Amino acid sequence: GSEKEQKQDSIPQTPAPSSPAAAGGRVNATFVTLARNGDVWELAKSIRQVEDRFNRNYHYDWVFLNDKPFDETFKKVTSALVSGNTFYGLISKEHWSYPEWIDQDKARKVREDMGQRKIIYGDSESYRHMCRYESGFFFRHPLMLNYEYYWRVEPGIELYCDIGFDPFRFMKENDKKYSFVLSLYEYYETIPTLWDSVKKFMENHPEHIAEGNSIGFLSDDGGKTYNKCHFWSNFEIGNLDWLRSEAYLDYFDSLDKDGGFFYERWGDAPVHSIAAALLLKKEQIHFFNEIGYYHVPFTHCPTGEKTRLDLKCHCNPEDNFDWKGYSCKFAVVVWKDLFVTNGSHPGTS
Ligand code: GDP
Ligand code: MN
Repeated sequence: GSEKEQKQDSIPQTPAPSSPAAAGGRVNATFVTLARNGDVWELAKSIRQVEDRFNRNYHYDWVFLNDKPFDETFKKVTSALVSGNTFYGLISKEHWSYPEWIDQDKARKVREDMGQRKIIYGDSESYRHMCRYESGFFFRHPLMLNYEYYWRVEPGIELYCDIGFDPFRFMKENDKKYSFVLSLYEYYETIPTLWDSVKKFMENHPEHIAEGNSIGFLSDDGGKTYNKCHFWSNFEIGNLDWLRSEAYLDYFDSLDKDGGFFYERWGDAPVHSIAAALLLKKEQIHFFNEIGYYHVPFTHCPTGEKTRLDLKCHCNPEDNFDWKGYSCKFAVVVWKDLFVTNGSHPGTS
């Protein structure tokens, strides 16, 4: 609208080296952030970096979602920072509450027990609703329904390098459905029966398991056990139609029925990652080396000095987590041909 046009006039736009948005036009895509009102200042930092490093040249939309109404400060601050249109969505009770088959007493006892065992977020009820929402519902929010691709951004992240190409367009043109920058091992205590649940799904729905999938990223023994590798889902660029597909929804429903979002503390990262590895062909998953990224406590700093200099990265390559002990990069390396070398785009050198 006219308000947005005025705003863009008043924001000094650094001229892009070669007006990339103009070259190909935008893809049908949006940034998406789940946040609380209290996250506003940490989120402001994230938005500013996403804008400076990428979106000021593209003006993609940004959807904000919350289980409580956003306040005026949140809306004012974020809409001033985003160069595209901003939308603020309230999450329906139906998508942020206990399904009827969950025994809430049992869930409460689990939280008490996991709290005593000092398992990260083990005692938190809201964190469980958050993980279940990110696993099964954000892509079905009415504000998300008209988009084809999403880019998830969390409060407090950093982007270390210029993004000299449009990752959304890259995803679309190369038929990628899911992408990541960091992979690591999940805490076993949060997912003890997740793989049992996944195996049950695989047995019940063989029709959804992709030919040429990447089960080898998840399991070192041919599918018997889960090696706990997952893509870190606080950064994600993905295809929404895939998440809304029958295959993904059957997968989510099957897991949800088993109750592990509440009786354990299943994270959306392993849930998304396992789905990507089983339901997609390996070529449909992409590793973005050239996107320098930080979310406490891990850094992905692009490999290759030329890449870092060309993209004006400000990360210390020694902080790169890819090769450290707790990283699952080893598994990614084994699968390198599949995740890294498929498709090339400007910014890869
Ligand atoms: P961590 O990255 O696993 O430590 O978890 P975060 O605290 O960063 O939460 C993940 C994402 O969900 C962030 O974008 C948070 O802003 C958001 N989030 C977490 N809990 C809630 C909640 O109770 N309500 C809302 N609206 N957002 C939440
Ligand atoms: Mn976070």
